[in-house]
Amino acid sequence: MNTRVLLRERPVGAIEPEKTFEVVRAPMDAHQLLEGDVLVRTLFLSLDPAMRGWLDDKPSYLPPVKIGAVMRGGSMGVVVESKNAAFAAGDLVDAQGTGGWQQYFVDRKARNLLKLDPGTDLLAAMGPLGMTGLTAYFGLLEVGKPRAGETIVVSGAAGATGSVVGQIGKIMGCRVVGMAGTDEKCRWLTEELGFDGAINYRTAGGAAGLDKALREHCPKGVDVYFDNVGGDILDAVLLRLRMRARVVLCGAISQYNSEAVAGPKNYLTLLTKRATMAGFIVFDYLARYAEARAQLQAWLDNGKLKFKVDVIDGLENAPQGLLKLFTGANKGKLAVQCAPLPSKL
Ligand code: NDP
Repeated sequence: MNTRVLLRERPVGAIEPEKTFEVVRAPMDAHQLLEGDVLVRTLFLSLDPAMRGWLDDKPSYLPPVKIGAVMRGGSMGVVVESKNAAFAAGDLVDAQGTGGWQQYFVDRKARNLLKLDPGTDLLAAMGPLGMTGLTAYFGLLEVGKPRAGETIVVSGAAGATGSVVGQIGKIMGCRVVGMAGTDEKCRWLTEELGFDGAINYRTAGGAAGLDKALREHCPKGVDVYFDNVGGDILDAVLLRLRMRARVVLCGAISQYNSEAVAGPKNYLTLLTKRATMAGFIVFDYLARYAEARAQLQAWLDNGKLKFKVDVIDGLENAPQGLLKLFTGANKGKLAVQCAPLPSKL
């Protein structure tokens, strides 16, 4: 038997878990493994804001998920059966987007699987060593180019990407201020992750309140803004940019459910401050993932980088769980555990 989550219909506005997705439990298609094939059981599934975009029938950096298809997603799994000399039952693998929201899948000729070391910490692999950690690393260092002593502001700061961005900023010797949606998240940022300041954007008091808070926390202005959310927060930070500031356009979760995306009203500050705003996609840096993972692992080992994975239990709960990203109910990386860990399998 195989549990799979399929796209039932494209959402208009917010995802409605039971309308948007369909959970199907059925015997696996005669999964005859041919020479080179590998059968994998999914252990962890990554939930990502970008998934909202993949549900729309619009051009993007990846094609839309087709109606009736298994929902796309990053995952880690364990090999159950292999007809490929490079893989053996029990091997841990990164499915690199090929498995998606299903309990078991066959990777033909094992074209997409990346073998993980036997002792791999799967939570770290889902979190700071996974896609969001790499996004933080390349987005901040290659696009934001922070220099010691500069001020960095990051939105979505208590999320998977933002929490790593802020900590790398501190490692680089910068002043780091995070924006998050609850006081509890703000305390986590300053008391546990070492941020210099944190602003609860929900209680700041609208545009005027955000501006006041930014003036207090960033008295010299903002040199690097790492934007995960877009919308009003982007506008507020644009007003506080310093000369030659860099705005890293990583994402805009506040706009993902909107039919008409609200562009920045205060973009002329880019002109007056000779600032730049640049988008990037983490896949652009594929050739350098190993280098980034080695550095992120070193920071984990020496305690400079901390992380949290918010784990949802059970693949069938993935559709409902995805909403946590949009309500802000997650802290750190949001993931679904789909099976017991290998030692207990
Ligand atoms: P997070 O773990 O940061 O979760 C999303 C967070 O966004 C929520 O916890 C919530 O926190 C915040 N949020 C939700 N709605 C709003 C809103 N309306 N206004 C402000 N904040 C909101 O997710 P990820 O780390 O996975 O992703 C962060 C961003 O990075 C996303 O925009 C994503 O699309 C982007 N991304 C881009 C990549 C690239 O290659 N360019 C790759 C990976 C991610 P709070 O409680 O603080 O509101």
